[in-house]
Amino acid sequence: MTLKRLEMHGFKSFAKKVVFDFSAPVTAIVGPNGSGKSNVVEAIRFVLGEQSTKSMRSKTGADLIFKGSKQIGKMNRASVAITFDNTKRIFNLPAMDDQNLPLDFDEITISREVHMDGGNKYSLNGNEVRLKDVHELIASVNIGSSGHHIISQGEADRLLNSKPAERREMLEESLGLKLYHYRIKDAERKLEKTREHVREAESLRRELAPHIKFLKKQVEKIEKARELEIALADLYTNYLVQEQSLLARKKFETDSALQKLTNELSHVEEKLKQLGSDESEDQVKQEESVLVSIRNHIRELSRTRDDLGRQIGRVEGMIESATRIIPARQGVVSVTISEIETLISELESDASISVSEIIKKLKLYIVDKKGSPQTQISVDTSEFETTKRELESQIAGLDAEIAKQEQEIVSVENKMAETRAMHLDRERGFYEAQAQRSDIVSRRNILENTTNELKNRAENLRDEYGHAENLVGSSVVDLKNKFLNEQVAIDEQGLRTMHHEIERVKIRLEDMGGGGGGDIMQEFDETVTRDQFLEKEITDLTNALMTLESTIKDLKEKLGSEFKNGITKINKEFDIFFKLMFGGGDAKLDVVTIEKRKKKELDEEGNEIISDEEDDQEEKEQGIDIDVSLPRKKVKDLDMLSGGERSLTSIALLFALSQVNPPPFLVLDETDAALDEVNSQKYGDMIENLAKQTQLVVVTHNRETMSRADILYGVTLGSDDASTLLSIRFEEAVKVAK
Ligand code: ATP
Repeated sequence: MTLKRLEMHGFKSFAKKVVFDFSAPVTAIVGPNGSGKSNVVEAIRFVLGEQSTKSMRSKTGADLIFKGSKQIGKMNRASVAITFDNTKRIFNLPAMDDQNLPLDFDEITISREVHMDGGNKYSLNGNEVRLKDVHELIASVNIGSSGHHIISQGEADRLLNSKPAERREMLEESLGLKLYHYRIKDAERKLEKTREHVREAESLRRELAPHIKFLKKQVEKIEKARELEIALADLYTNYLVQEQSLLARKKFETDSALQKLTNELSHVEEKLKQLGSDESEDQVKQEESVLVSIRNHIRELSRTRDDLGRQIGRVEGMIESATRIIPARQGVVSVTISEIETLISELESDASISVSEIIKKLKLYIVDKKGSPQTQISVDTSEFETTKRELESQIAGLDAEIAKQEQEIVSVENKMAETRAMHLDRERGFYEAQAQRSDIVSRRNILENTTNELKNRAENLRDEYGHAENLVGSSVVDLKNKFLNEQVAIDEQGLRTMHHEIERVKIRLEDMGGGGGGDIMQEFDETVTRDQFLEKEITDLTNALMTLESTIKDLKEKLGSEFKNGITKINKEFDIFFKLMFGGGDAKLDVVTIEKRKKKELDEEGNEIISDEEDDQEEKEQGIDIDVSLPRKKVKDLDMLSGGERSLTSIALLFALSQVNPPPFLVLDETDAALDEVNSQKYGDMIENLAKQTQLVVVTHNRETMSRADILYGVTLGSDDASTLLSIRFEEAVKVAK
């Protein structure tokens, strides 16, 4: 037994919870009219996901909830649970990517609740699931919501009344092919969604394209600018290093030269100081005055010498006179010594007397003596000789002194010449030193200018570092320390050329709008990544589309072939059941192709759109015609059959379906209503036969049918206007049914 239980609570007339136990092949539900038997059948439809409230004789979902009676208040929800035996794991859905229902249980209970607001809730073994899950689940065990296995009251000939296309659907369901439809629909939905995604992705790519194009141009510009930046960094590196090295070298050279000049200058200053304090002039003057005094002294000595000479002359005269008187007394005047001494002292007393005066005095003295009588003079000359010798010795002394003094003059004059020569040397040295000093000072000025220039250049270099840092980043600044001591050979001209190149590159960079552009690069990368992502997505989606299309094609092919096979099998059974029911005749189903009226698609202006995509196949569909010929009757048109004949034909077909692909259970609500006694018996036989494969739940007033049931449930409407359930025996059932 597959169908195990049905629980209802608050569903329609079943206010209180009731449980139907279907543990036998045939269960009959009996009861008086209006007691709620059909509500049980509808409860089964409901719990299996029926969406048409109309087929449950209601307008809204709320109509399915017990409305209340005098005794029992109205309820807020209706719930139904149906339990199947799954020990044979009949519920076994083919794995679908989005399905993961827990089915590995011995019992499968599907429940559904409806609330006053019309909201529904579905559960599988207590876990909430989607309606879709319920549909697929029951389709997998060959029961479906369209109801080929649930024949409601008065719907026994539904298959006969239906249009060919509807019949096909019902037959497909009975053949268990509904699942293919779900799969196809699912795949088609996915296909449409995927197409939509492809369209979206393509549209996004189209939108991105001009943006990428724009960004690419920007990026190319930025890359060019970056190349220039790198070139600029290189140039800067070279330039800064070399300029810095050059400046350092020049500074060193200038400082050394300045130091040297300072030393030289201090030497020269020292020299000038020394040469500036010249004492030679004083010395010359002093020496000149020494010369004058020596010369005066010589003159004095000469005068004294002359005096002495004259004295000698006089003494010599006296000696001569004395000598002449004695030998030749003629003309001789006798003069005494004392007289001569008196004369000498007279002459001596007058120091300033000139020689002529002396001669004059002496002549007068002689004249005086000549007038006197000749006097006998006795002359002694030794005294005169002594005096003369003394005088001559004095003169010799004076001559020696004069010679000495003259010697002194020569020595002083030599010294003076020396001093003068020294003075000249000094003067020459002084002027030379002065010239040297001014040369040093002017050279120093030049060097100081150079130092200032170097300072300016060093400041410019610092500024240049700043610019470089701004333009090409801080790495340049590191050079300051890195290359400080590096010796780089470069000349000024080379540096100027480099600086010129730097300025040129800077201008080009400025024209390009400078470096940077990190945001643009990032945006470009992101946009390209996005575009590539979309491109890949389109490829993936296109592959998915192809897979889906081929899946749909496969499913459709399989559906087509299985349907064809199924119809062949059904026809075989249908013919047997038909013959059994009517005691002869023929019945078969024909697969017909019907023109499907294609909905005309209209454009905005109301013109018909002719689509190339849809092929002819989609405008046609398959349908089922029922072809019967009753024994001994020429009637072939279904519409011309009597009510009983229609019922018998329907039952034959219904049973044929159940024979070919037995559903786990079949619910028949008063399908036997129109049968006469003979046919009721045949019906009863068939039910017993059918029950060997399919569990049957029959709602019936038919005694014959009741007699074939294993379990009988009596449904009555209690005094509280709610349906109640009782398990009864056959005899009671006959009574209850009435
Ligand atoms: P018959 O033998 O004539 O076919 P039945 O036993 O099949 O009768 P049902 O049609 O199942 O009877 O039951 C109909 C009864 O259910 C009616 O009396 C109706 O008032 C009652 N009913 C239907 N919906 C509700 C509801 N929402 N609340 C209470 N009672 C309801």
